[in-house]
Amino acid sequence: MNGTAASIALQDQEIPDIVAGLRAAFRTGATRPAAWRRRQLRGLRSLLTTHTQAIEEALYDDLRKGRTESHVTEIGGVLAEIDHALRHLDRWMKPRRAAVPMNLKPATARIHPEPLGVCLIIAPWNYPLTLTLNPLVGALAAGNAAVVKPSELAPATSALIASLLPRYVEAVAVVEGAVEETTLLLEQRFDHIFYTGNGTVGRIVAAAAARNLTPTTLELGGKSPVFIDETADMAVAARRLTWGKFTNAGQTCVAPDYVLATPAARDSLLSALPETIREMFGPNPRTSSDYGRIVNDRHFQRLTGLLAEGGDLIAGGVSDAQERYIAPTVLTDVPHGALVMTEEIFGPILPVLTVRDVHEAIDFINARDKPLSLYAFTRDKTARQALLDKTSSGGLVYNASMIHLGVPNLPFGGIGESGMGAYHGKTSFDTFSHLKSVLSKPTRPDTLRLIYAPHTSRSFAFIAKAVTRTHPVLGRKR
Ligand code: NAD
Repeated sequence: MNGTAASIALQDQEIPDIVAGLRAAFRTGATRPAAWRRRQLRGLRSLLTTHTQAIEEALYDDLRKGRTESHVTEIGGVLAEIDHALRHLDRWMKPRRAAVPMNLKPATARIHPEPLGVCLIIAPWNYPLTLTLNPLVGALAAGNAAVVKPSELAPATSALIASLLPRYVEAVAVVEGAVEETTLLLEQRFDHIFYTGNGTVGRIVAAAAARNLTPTTLELGGKSPVFIDETADMAVAARRLTWGKFTNAGQTCVAPDYVLATPAARDSLLSALPETIREMFGPNPRTSSDYGRIVNDRHFQRLTGLLAEGGDLIAGGVSDAQERYIAPTVLTDVPHGALVMTEEIFGPILPVLTVRDVHEAIDFINARDKPLSLYAFTRDKTARQALLDKTSSGGLVYNASMIHLGVPNLPFGGIGESGMGAYHGKTSFDTFSHLKSVLSKPTRPDTLRLIYAPHTSRSFAFIAKAVTRTHPVLGRKR
């Protein structure tokens, strides 16, 4: 099996050959046993623990991530996902009993999770380790072979993954590259495509997948709003917002994108935020080892363009093209129609808008695409319930930001423009499995006789009573 693990420099026929090699390996059945899956998960674990320093250095090179941040949001996140999978794998793999309706008894019904085959995982640059390896944990736990395509925009991490992964796991190939390579990959037939990134490319992936009717998981982004009112614990809210927004310099899919504050909350939030920014990153965040940089010049220019649109600066606003540094920035009174309120910010700029109350906030949110996450800082139970009942988002978090990703039992994924499908924990296992329905019925007594032809009015009457009354679709319990 080791022979199928490969990191490659692209040649014409190589990608089809790699996929064919992985498919042949999958067909041997070698990836199915629990022992093989555990070996891969342990292999991934030892990759992370053996090469921690090299990973930290790569993340620093790509995004100037600090050591602690790399552990909290990248290495630690994958380790936790691996350990969770190792702990629960036996239970996840077990056939799941399903109840059989009276009219079909005696019979046993079971749901058997089975691996899908060869999966493609396409990852983005912003959490280049986690977003490549976390889906892989699910794919391997579910007994699949996989092709992994890290992001070319995080080249140091991509190269490290390509050089290390084949040494630690079997039936996994790493293909590095950009549009050309990904396009070639998407021409192949896979059994599942797991894509994380922006919605424009998400559509390209979905269209390519449709050609082969390949199921896809699309982990996309968008604008994740924050609602805050005067009942919030303002000091804690400001800290949790500052952390969520300025981690990785705001380049996080679930970063709070903008704030909707009630009039009574707005002023105290605006005076708390500059203070918490100073507490976390010092008087000059440029010198903080905990503050990252913008990934490339294109994104730097896009973000400074957003700053140039105007609005009142409450904090930050400073930038340096040389270093691709943008200070943690808080804005209010952004001009009507400004791009900062129409496109995903994906950088360290936090607009704070005022809304009358939670109802206006709900209308504002519902007039836009369904977000990946919604955050609400409020102790008002009615407001919390209204946000839960009247908005739709991938996830909803009260009094914190981003930490729902750390709960493996919560499926993580978007809805509408923020994506489709989900993963993490058992949801990952199920995403990369086919849940096969298996029914077994004894032949004697032949309790199905009644439904065989020829039918008589007596048998019809009996069937109507016995079948339709208990049938979930055809009949109603009276
Ligand atoms: P990116 O530019 O790294 O692209 C993602 C992947 O798509 C890369 O591997 C890239 O090579 C590939 N790609 C790019 N253009 C392509 C094309 N034309 N055809 C085929 N493949 C192509 O990352 P990005 O898209 O800039 O990532 C940022 C976006 O991703 C944001 O919108 C963010 O919200 C979202 N995101 C979502 C999640 C999530 O878990 N939901 C996580 C991180 C980022």
